[in-house]
Amino acid sequence: MSDCLFCRIIKKEIPSKSAYEDEHIYAFHDINPQAPTHVLIVPKTHLDGVAQLGVKDTEIAGRLIVQAKRLADSLGLKSYRLVFNSGAEAGQSVFHIHLHLLGGRRMTWPPG
Ligand code: 5GP
Ligand code: ZN
Repeated sequence: MSDCLFCRIIKKEIPSKSAYEDEHIYAFHDINPQAPTHVLIVPKTHLDGVAQLGVKDTEIAGRLIVQAKRLADSLGLKSYRLVFNSGAEAGQSVFHIHLHLLGGRRMTWPPG
């Protein structure tokens, strides 16, 4: 989607600090980090969010999680949190599905 912020980041029309890239996924550091490590893992194909996932998206959803785990390992994180915000009331502000990888500080529960 040409007017989607994350599609534009994927196309490198908007600069970002890369953490990982392959043919399916781009991962980059959040511009407003909420932890010492805060990386966003996004599929290169546009999908608004978790609410739009169907069975056909099983592979890409799995790729996001597995890549988040691999990034956490490569960054030396022993504990970390993976978050999908789904819908504005849950805190989703960018409507291109993304998985947050947060780590490097103690987390609290429940989340705010
Ligand atoms: P959400 O609130 O939708 O779950 O997460 C969107 C995330 O994207 C936020 O954590 C926000 O800081 C991040 N973000 C918004 N605009 C940009 C940007 O232009 N560049 C980067 N790297 N992150 C962004
Ligand atoms: Zn998009």
